[in-house]
Amino acid sequence: MTVNDRRLDELTLVENGRINGNHRRIDHGAVERAAEDLLRALGADVDAEALEETPRRVADAYAELLTPHPFRATTFPNDDGYDELIVARSIPFHSLCMHHLLPFHGVAHVGYLPGERIIGLSKLGRVVEYFSRDLQIQERLTTQIAGWLQCELDPKGVGVVLEAEHLCMSLRGVQKLGAKTVTSALRGLIRDDARTRQEFLALTARTSHDQ
Ligand SMILES: [Zn+2]
Repeated sequence: MTVNDRRLDELTLVENGRINGNHRRIDHGAVERAAEDLLRALGADVDAEALEETPRRVADAYAELLTPHPFRATTFPNDDGYDELIVARSIPFHSLCMHHLLPFHGVAHVGYLPGERIIGLSKLGRVVEYFSRDLQIQERLTTQIAGWLQCELDPKGVGVVLEAEHLCMSLRGVQKLGAKTVTSALRGLIRDDARTRQEFLALTARTSHDQ
């Protein structure tokens, strides 16, 4: 599937008002064979008993990491006219860096300023997980989550902040272990209105007991 096909697919999912998880087809057998080839190329003895099951385990692991769980994005009318920020803080997530196939992991803070509709709080975590289960870069993941909320809810504002440690950087000594990369995508009033923006950023800022 090309990058363009992929984009179209994602737009369709949003337009349908729900997400289905069948945009990627994983050829399990081919992944197993490739994992065995990789082990061999890395100088490993693929006939050793300890490695016997490794290609299958590798294929299972990648399949799991790259298969999003479908869910229905149920929204509700904002009958009470709630007009303050709604923020889900410190949603844990992990994803796979598309440049190195190594994990990056951290927390997402996702918020919006409601308009006509609101969404169940648990869905904010589900949408983070949905887009995380992909070959990703952190910037793209951040904007995909924000774009999805914007399309799905048409709120007055959207804010997404991701803090993540990239093993491709920290394990290779490019960055110190534990160093975090922070990305944000702000839309609507959360971007344009100084007071709302400040409130959102204060709500997502690290507090002293966060680690
Ligand atoms: Zn990387």
